[in-house]
Amino acid sequence: MIDYHVHTSLCNHATGTMEQYVRAAVAKGIATLCFLDHLTFQEGGRTNAMFPREVPMYVNAARRLERQYRDQISVRVGLEIDFSPRHVDRCIEIVNTFDLDVVGSSVHFLDGEDVVTRRSAWGRGEISADEVYPKYLGILESMLDYDYFDVICHLDLPKKYNQRPSPSAAQGFLDVLEKIRERDLAVELNTSGFHYPVKEAFPSPELLDRCAQLQIPVVVGSDAHTPETVGRDFDRAQDLLTVAGYRHLTGFSHRQREIVPLQ
Ligand SMILES: [Zn+2]
Ligand SMILES: [Zn+2]
Repeated sequence: MIDYHVHTSLCNHATGTMEQYVRAAVAKGIATLCFLDHLTFQEGGRTNAMFPREVPMYVNAARRLERQYRDQISVRVGLEIDFSPRHVDRCIEIVNTFDLDVVGSSVHFLDGEDVVTRRSAWGRGEISADEVYPKYLGILESMLDYDYFDVICHLDLPKKYNQRPSPSAAQGFLDVLEKIRERDLAVELNTSGFHYPVKEAFPSPELLDRCAQLQIPVVVGSDAHTPETVGRDFDRAQDLLTVAGYRHLTGFSHRQREIVPLQ
């Protein structure tokens, strides 16, 4: 199995050294572990992500671990970059400067308001789903006008606190998948959702089914913020993928996709 989404203490809200994540993955028999730590240019997210100046050190540390552990596991490195329409140029510059294996793109902020943390108005249940989902979908749509990333992380993230999309927003996600297919991008099956109030992976089984119909490549990630949660619930991920009709997964090496067995 592969885990393409783990964080490190560099983002200030995860614990554990990079080496501890690698060792945890080796202990769990994971074949490939990819660091995908946060990078954001959003004002509200600065304290929850590495600084851009830390990227070289992060990439070098991952590459050192890649060499050190190469007999036991494949270590890869990428970034989970917050989509920020005003900072696309800086994102592209970073992506082009470093030798990354994969670039993930996610939407954590809607006009500065975050939809990912419990302490946000959305997390506290103070904004309606009818307000948040259309905004979120609009930002996803505009994100798909760019091509500096390879994979969409936790596609239906706003459901995290169990505020579900309306039927029209649910249709909006299906429409977004068409655009993802056209752009030839991959989607992440992120198992962290099982541990939030929504209690299901991102994206939902319905969306995963549609991904399979559209033959959108899928990569799996735990979104671990502690070494202990590397590879968490991958048995459930495997079941979901098999039911959806997937026969293999997708990995990335130096921004090139590779086929990975689903096991
Ligand atoms: Zn995080
Ligand atoms: Zn994220």
